[in-house]
Amino acid sequence: MGAGHAAGQFAARLRNEKFEGEIVMLGNEPQLPYQRPPLSKAYLAGEVGSDRVLLRPADFYEDKNVEVRLSTAVAAIDTGASTVTTQAVTTQAVATGAGDTLEYTHLVLATGARVRRLPGFELAGVHYVRTLADSDSLKSALAPGQKIIVVGGGYIGLEVAAVAAKRGAAVTVLEAQPRILSRVATAPVADYLRRVHEANGVVIRTGVRIARAEGEAGVGAVVLQDDAGAQGERIEADAVIVGIGITPNTELAEAAGLHVDDGIVVDERGATTCANVWAIGDCSRHPSRIYGRSVRLESVHNAMAQAGVVAANIAGKDTVYNEIPWFWSDQYDLKLQIAGLADGHDETVIRGDPDTGSFTVFALARGCVIAADSINAMRDHIECRKLAAAKKAVDKARLADVGVALKEL
Ligand code: NAP
Repeated sequence: MGAGHAAGQFAARLRNEKFEGEIVMLGNEPQLPYQRPPLSKAYLAGEVGSDRVLLRPADFYEDKNVEVRLSTAVAAIDTGASTVTTQAVTTQAVATGAGDTLEYTHLVLATGARVRRLPGFELAGVHYVRTLADSDSLKSALAPGQKIIVVGGGYIGLEVAAVAAKRGAAVTVLEAQPRILSRVATAPVADYLRRVHEANGVVIRTGVRIARAEGEAGVGAVVLQDDAGAQGERIEADAVIVGIGITPNTELAEAAGLHVDDGIVVDERGATTCANVWAIGDCSRHPSRIYGRSVRLESVHNAMAQAGVVAANIAGKDTVYNEIPWFWSDQYDLKLQIAGLADGHDETVIRGDPDTGSFTVFALARGCVIAADSINAMRDHIECRKLAAAKKAVDKARLADVGVALKEL
């Protein structure tokens, strides 16, 4: 169920495992599995076309005998009967009629996530970035001189802000938290990226509360709340882009009786609480041996790795998922690479000089590296994944010293 990055990779890996049974992929979007990262980066900027966004070309699915049913949603799962009931949908994912009932031996839930919406912003000119169609509709709004407001200073918001600024738009980012990237990057890296955005003309405002959108035919402004909670400053906008996080698509799993807790709960093998039902990608929550707790990860690496583990297990192997998470973001000519999860860190150590445009920030908890954010420092990043996975105490002076190879630590 699903035809995103996780599902596309899963089908390919299952055939690699020499699985000879029938594979049916059900996706409610009209496109073959595609990659989402370029939608807020190179694809939005017009640097790559839709052919480069597809995960694999159309003939791949024919060659591998994978039946892909597009514009097809699942309406219900019956785990007792081992069936799913489908429903045809339009390109806007609106149901148009009854579908089929399909039997399964194994069911893999790769249902992904949907954007969190901002109430009161149901106006023309308000955009979200999750699907190819979203990115296409946003492209034309990012013209020189346009006043663009970005709500949310996470990856989506900042990547879109960078593309819009490069196009010559006048961009303001409004973030609710006291700093940008508060969920996903260390403070020194967030500060650095803030300076880069400001140098490119982007206005970043943090700790902001939004009261409402203004406009009749389309959005014309965003009104902020003042400190007393009353309506305050009004900021004009030709377009608003909202990137305030995502919600995992777990409703069908919950209705089918599976354990759901901000994600479909799976074990280390990717198995849900129901026999022969598995979950992978953004919609799933798995136990992490590395972090000693369960995590739900929103990343391409997680989708790909879980797809491989579940494919191997369905093919009869006994494989567990135990990898350090990693993420990346492209903004202007900067590549931010993140190894590990920094939540719970009590200290940061900076290696390299941010003024050179290439450095790494380590997040430590009780003297051990648990995560690291690298800016234009590819080699550091690879070693950082190993350091974060090793959970060993490190010498902080040597960590900060660019003269000491990370390998030695
Ligand atoms: P995100 O990382 O959760 O960031 C959203 C930010 O918006 C948070 O700081 C959030 O604060 C803030 N926010 C929430 N409500 C707000 C409001 N009403 N006004 C102003 N700010 C508000 O989510 P995202 O950037 O939308 O990303 C969505 C998904 O795409 C994530 O899964 C992300 O990992 C993925 N993605 C990944 C990459 C990458 O790996 N490079 C790139 C793009 C997107 P709170 O924490 O208080 O809610």
